[in-house]
Amino acid sequence: MMAEDASTQAIGGGERVSVLLPLPLAGAYDYVVPEGLTLHPGEFVVVPLGPREILGVVWGKGTDELDSAKLKEVVERLEEAPRLPETVLRFVDWVAAYTLSPPGAVLRMAMSVPSALEPPRLASGYRFSRMPEPGERTTAQRKRVIELLAEGMAWLPGDLAREAGVGTGVLKAMEKDGLLDRVEMPAPAPFAMPDLDRPGRVLNEDQAASAVEMRKRVVEDVFSVTLLDGVTGSGKTEVYFEAVAECLRRGRQALVLLPEIALSAEWLGRFESRFGTRPAVWHSDLTQLERRTTWRAVAEGKAPVLVGARSALFLPYPDLGLIVVDEEHDPAFKQEDGVHYHARDMAVVRAQLGRIPIVLSSATPSLESHVNVTTERYRRLHLPDRHAGAQLPDIRTIDLRRDKPAPQRFLSPPLVQALTETLAAGEQSLLFLNRRGYAPLTLCRACGHRLNCPNCSTWLVEHRLAGRLQCHHCGYSARRPNACPSCQADNAFAACGPGVERLAEELMAVLPNARFTVMASDTIGGPAQAAELIRSIRDGEVDVVIGTQMVAKGHNFPNLTLVGVVDADLGLEGGDLRAAERTYQLLHQVAGRAGRHERPGRVLLQTWQPDNRVMQALASGDRDTFLAVEASEREAASMPPYGRLVGLIVSSHDPQAADAVARALAKSAPRGDGIQVLGPAPAPLALLRGRHRRRLLFKADRSIRVQPVVADWLAKVKVPGTVRVQVDVDPYSFL
Ligand code: ADP
Ligand code: ZN
Repeated sequence: MMAEDASTQAIGGGERVSVLLPLPLAGAYDYVVPEGLTLHPGEFVVVPLGPREILGVVWGKGTDELDSAKLKEVVERLEEAPRLPETVLRFVDWVAAYTLSPPGAVLRMAMSVPSALEPPRLASGYRFSRMPEPGERTTAQRKRVIELLAEGMAWLPGDLAREAGVGTGVLKAMEKDGLLDRVEMPAPAPFAMPDLDRPGRVLNEDQAASAVEMRKRVVEDVFSVTLLDGVTGSGKTEVYFEAVAECLRRGRQALVLLPEIALSAEWLGRFESRFGTRPAVWHSDLTQLERRTTWRAVAEGKAPVLVGARSALFLPYPDLGLIVVDEEHDPAFKQEDGVHYHARDMAVVRAQLGRIPIVLSSATPSLESHVNVTTERYRRLHLPDRHAGAQLPDIRTIDLRRDKPAPQRFLSPPLVQALTETLAAGEQSLLFLNRRGYAPLTLCRACGHRLNCPNCSTWLVEHRLAGRLQCHHCGYSARRPNACPSCQADNAFAACGPGVERLAEELMAVLPNARFTVMASDTIGGPAQAAELIRSIRDGEVDVVIGTQMVAKGHNFPNLTLVGVVDADLGLEGGDLRAAERTYQLLHQVAGRAGRHERPGRVLLQTWQPDNRVMQALASGDRDTFLAVEASEREAASMPPYGRLVGLIVSSHDPQAADAVARALAKSAPRGDGIQVLGPAPAPLALLRGRHRRRLLFKADRSIRVQPVVADWLAKVKVPGTVRVQVDVDPYSFL
């Protein structure tokens, strides 16, 4: 990429320099460069802040009005730290401005662990010292070690032991005898270069055509957005791997964003079989050492491919050549705390700043991307069929008004029958219910009292296996009381509604011979356990999988031919802006687990509203009409993507304080053409983790730049320390 002017800008001794600190402060601070030092944007420096010294990044020339004499001096530059690339600096500024967040809070996401900035540690290896003397101990093992070392190279202990087929104890003993020397050698590159000569899969005609187009975008090397729109099982991953390969051939880095990296063992396996090596991985569960190694490798251009969750977007790629966002419609890309940002949207911005292509991949594109295709801002590549002639599943609704489950049961007769048939055929079923635990509500039969969370305005969810009542919002957990806290009636509690645990109980009653497993985030310990569970399902050790949305994503179970959606209406409750769209996407994805291979699949949706257009669209497979109707409704209401929203959440432990700030905000709300402020109103979750919450919603025409308007508005209202005002530009959650 062409060097930017600013990146070569030198700021010499005596000049002012602007330094951004990774703290949620207003902006960058000015310092004076000490004599003899020359700084450049992106360099890491230590600067004084009050009584402390802290790490920051050179942002550019100083701009403060302040008298130079009042400014403090930069303490030092970290000589061994990589520089943040110019594009990353501009990206941090851009995201901060767009999300109305302090730039330092965004910078913090780009900085990772401080130890990554220290010089890389040298590794300790072995080198040949001398031949054994006559009479000295020589075993076959020792001979093999000597033969390898006699070639003159230094080896890392692990590599040497593996290659010679000996334990490291042998090496230590040889070192003690003076046959081997310890030497310092550079630490090995942690991430190998993917093997580009391995043949990929033979692509079918549609796949090949899409791959050609995508490679072209990579070769062009300018900003472009491509929506890879293909049905589940059409081979989208195989196709974008070809774009990744092209990017690597050109010596650039590639970034792949996945919604939930912790569950993506399957994806990593496929990458490895395509490229012969594992990519670098980035997510919140990495160890400090992994973070440090990965951050540094990325910064030094030594991680050719990085796959990660949304935070991977902020890593300091010096030469990014391609971004892929897989499952671009997934709500997990929206970060809802700290800096509120949507990783898909910010990925498009990152691509634009870096002048590189980006690929958005999905079987159920977001309405945002769909509209961008119709207005030709994005290009679309289409994979209309499943690979190798596999059929899309047959989707039908079960009308719960007619086909009622038995009292206290949740599986309707047609679904039970389908489960029975599938079991008899030796095939697998999936029962999908997006509800953890046993029952979402516990009620006193005597007085009607509902057990709710003391910290949140929600009901407690019974987890019978764990023997507890839990709040899924704040983590509060308690044993189920014997007596009702309201009327003291003994043992009068009734569980209302199903969770996955309760379904398992029902399944045992209706299909006593079926082997089943429950797959939910709280029943699975970690990635290793998830991988083992997936293996056991794939190997046919399970007949029925009962799962939450955790099973909806990405898995490929060849023998799974029936998907039963227990409560298809669940996501339509609450009626937020995207309820219909999200329900469609989620259920479509769940349906896509059925019949991915030779055997055809079928999907049964239990619903109270079979005429709802979401159910109709799922059953008919007519996605584009659904999207068109959805788009026209949003357009008529000037809702996103046709209008803009900014959510404000005012919260405090003191309800009066929250109300006062919310009212003050309403009073000074901006007015004008194409602007509307709704609220304040108690948030649907009016109490969350002990904080009382009020919401305001700012709505504006698409043509209006909302950030300056909202920033002015917020500046007018004084917020006491006991109250927090969170700003959510383009909100996805309205709770
Ligand atoms: P999608 O991401 O569109 O759901 P995948 O890329 O996961 O589709 O592909 C679905 C399945 O089909 C995978 O098991 C994949 O390995 C297989 N597949 C796709 N394309 C090919 C191909 N050209 N040759 C062989 N197998 C393929
Ligand atoms: Zn709670």
